[in-house]
Amino acid sequence: MKLHEYQSKNIFAEFGVPIPNGKIASSPAEAKAIAKELGGRVVVKSQVLVGGRGKAGGIKLANSPDEAEKMAAHILDLKIKGLPVRKVLIDEAADIQNEIYLGITNDRAARKPVFMASAAGGVDIEEVAAKTPEKIIRIHVDPLLGLQDFQVLNLAIGIELPRNQWNQFNQVAHGLWQAYNKYDATLAEINPLIITRKGQLIAVDGKMIIDDNALFRHPELETERDLDVEAESETEAKAHGLTYIKLDGEIGCMVNGAGLAMATMDIIKYFGGEPANFLDIGGGANEEKVAAALRIILKDPNVKAVLFNIFGGITRGDLVARGILAALEEINTDVPMIIRLVGTNAEEGRALLADAEMITAQTLAEAAQKAVAAAKGEL
Ligand code: GDP
Ligand code: MN
Repeated sequence: MKLHEYQSKNIFAEFGVPIPNGKIASSPAEAKAIAKELGGRVVVKSQVLVGGRGKAGGIKLANSPDEAEKMAAHILDLKIKGLPVRKVLIDEAADIQNEIYLGITNDRAARKPVFMASAAGGVDIEEVAAKTPEKIIRIHVDPLLGLQDFQVLNLAIGIELPRNQWNQFNQVAHGLWQAYNKYDATLAEINPLIITRKGQLIAVDGKMIIDDNALFRHPELETERDLDVEAESETEAKAHGLTYIKLDGEIGCMVNGAGLAMATMDIIKYFGGEPANFLDIGGGANEEKVAAALRIILKDPNVKAVLFNIFGGITRGDLVARGILAALEEINTDVPMIIRLVGTNAEEGRALLADAEMITAQTLAEAAQKAVAAAKGEL
């Protein structure tokens, strides 16, 4: 889950990273009041979960509360890369001398978090990485030892940070590291970390991505989930405890178990089809879950066939069958359905489905071939 700039910066501040004074506003009037409180010169920043807001006109400097009100009105009316702006952050304007990049993410290949710093901050870091990779300094952090001071020093030297800013930089780096760890983040980024004319380091932008699988440990963040950026079907699936990812193909899949779901997608491709989704109904799925899953799959207009691949262990074949029947009772569809059902209570399941118009298959290969043919209208 992506966090908004203001949420990320508030978390950074919890761990001692200096951020500008500021508050969030949902209306121009609120923006004006906050600007007055902050003493006049402010930046009005759209809170949308995309990068490059500056270039898109979503960040404006205002010299007075009246100007802040006008700019907030303008920005709150914008759509940035398709997303509506519902809130603006009003921050005290900073006096920028330099812009640094500082971020942490997981390096899967190294199996370690990696710290990245660059003197070329403020701009799109992906662009820096592509064009001038030597300008990004990388340091891997041992997850058990944690971030060490000498590593921060190496980063500071690598980006040629003046010596009198090393202490501040050390504090910011450790704060960011703690935020990354305590909140189970997969990304924690400050871009830019500015140096003011007075020599202060301040995080003027912030970005965090929290590992969805760890969200149960941070229920306070879950309530702030921004549904504008999530596919509606994925939100609905989450509410039913299903793991669903929408893809671009034409064969809907309903499978129990993540590994089996991956294998099912592979074999669909092997026989010349494209999966429309990844869907793991999980172990011990009940009738209600199965019905919800089928409703979600069939909402996708690209779906030309549905493949059920159920390997009953904890999951019971008869319950899956009842779920399918329940869903088919409320959904009127002529999308062909192919089912391969084996394992616990498979016989009972098949008997229940005997009257439903479903195409059965004995093996996964047979099921996949039939699904591909059905999707092409050849069955
Ligand atoms: P992004 O475009 O979505 O990454 O948004 P940022 O928060 O990084 O802002 C983009 C750019 O706007 C920064 O790199 C700065 O150059 C500028 N900016 C942001 N906040 C301030 C501020 O308080 N004062 C000034 N003068 N410029 C700012
Ligand atoms: Mn930025």
